[in-house]
Amino acid sequence: MAKAEFDLIRRYFACHQPLNSEVALGIGDDCALINLPANQQLAITTDTMVEGVHFLPDVDPAALGHKLLAVNLSDLAAMGAKPFAVTLALSLPKIDHSWLEAFSLGFMQLAQSHAVDLVGGDTTSGSLSLTVQALGFVPSSQALLRSAAQPGDLIYLSGPVGDAGLGLKIRLNQYPFQESRALLALERPQPQVALGLALRGIARACIDISDGLLADLGHILERSEVGARLDWDAIPLSAEVIRYIEATGDWQMPLVAGDDYQLCFSVSPDQQHLLPERCVKIGQIEADRGLRVFKSGQIQTIQGTGYEHFA
Ligand code: ADP
Ligand code: MG
Repeated sequence: MAKAEFDLIRRYFACHQPLNSEVALGIGDDCALINLPANQQLAITTDTMVEGVHFLPDVDPAALGHKLLAVNLSDLAAMGAKPFAVTLALSLPKIDHSWLEAFSLGFMQLAQSHAVDLVGGDTTSGSLSLTVQALGFVPSSQALLRSAAQPGDLIYLSGPVGDAGLGLKIRLNQYPFQESRALLALERPQPQVALGLALRGIARACIDISDGLLADLGHILERSEVGARLDWDAIPLSAEVIRYIEATGDWQMPLVAGDDYQLCFSVSPDQQHLLPERCVKIGQIEADRGLRVFKSGQIQTIQGTGYEHFA
């Protein structure tokens, strides 16, 4: 690596001493070295964000740094894994110091707030593309798998959906009101790491909502070979999203919009009293395959989602 690149990494991404004892060696050598604790499994995930595909060219770089890390930590949360380290691969069209300063601040602040060490990465020139790999630990056989839902399980959501979708509509000038909560949900999603850890041993199947509630719940149903009924009226919605639905009639938006990063999980009825209060019951797993959405007691047909198994 050229000295200029190394200086760049030291300037913007160099961490101090690793926060986690599992990190034996961080940035600076050919590889990072991780000590593997006994009786834990290593959970590994990676997500890439490409300009024009995952973010708009004029996005605030600090928000981008935050979100790039958040979406990866969210995958670990959905597994019940505790994040401890990440790597960062940057492809940059040019060295833009004010951009890098803001981006790295957004990234490193979220990393520090979750006690995650940046242990390595790669820096190349090219069109703007950002990749994170995140590492976490989960006690052996306690990971929350998509395949673990059983008929009779209750379906829960960790919080409201549709805010990020509304934020995107605002950013695309498709909705005239600058709802700040919606923009925050889109640009500064908070990965549900603490909840993911709390759900170990309580929840059965779990997924994070990145592609939309129907699509992501659909993944649980497919992998678990079950179906479900979903009660639209029980889905937690913010006042902003309710206002949007009242103004436009678009009640399906919270079902199909992505990027909220709430957790959706199934839990056996005899475990539901152990859940944190903010988790909301929205439906039930059934043996009959397919997803049946009820609104005001009527079964609904949903348009415009990749998920096809609608009864
Ligand atoms: P190599 O040529 O062996 O792949 P590099 O020269 O690419 O090594 O990187 C040197 C060191 O800097 C490595 O420890 C690498 O992990 C780290 N590094 C490079 N780019 C980044 C980055 N964007 N973020 C964090 N660490 C990085
Ligand atoms: Mg390299």
